[in-house]
Amino acid sequence: MSDEEPKQHVSGDKPPAEQTGAANATAEKPAADKTPDYVKGGLPPLNIFLHWCKACNICIAFCPQKVLEPDRDGKPVVAHPEKCTQCAICWLHCPDFAITSNYK
Ligand code: SF4
Ligand code: SF4
Repeated sequence: MSDEEPKQHVSGDKPPAEQTGAANATAEKPAADKTPDYVKGGLPPLNIFLHWCKACNICIAFCPQKVLEPDRDGKPVVAHPEKCTQCAICWLHCPDFAITSNYK
């Protein structure tokens, strides 16, 4: 066997990471920016028309992400806009049509 021959992969050996891409797979990737537009200075996820709202709190109770919290009058405020998934539960259940989405 000459020195010029390429090395054979021996069973049980792992090929070098740079040949498999394993180095890239394990390397820390730059965090994908999943921040919704409305948290980056865009529109908020929801419009809440407080003069139509009767503070029934259905939207607050039904939001699976706990985005909404009551203000001192019991009306919803978008306390955690970054958690809103635009699932539509709040605006579909509001009996007074007081919530609309800025994104749907
Ligand atoms: S759209 Fe869904 S996640 Fe967003 S505030 Fe309404 S119920 Fe919560
Ligand atoms: S469901 Fe509608 S009326 Fe009830 S608290 Fe929410 S916004 Fe107000």
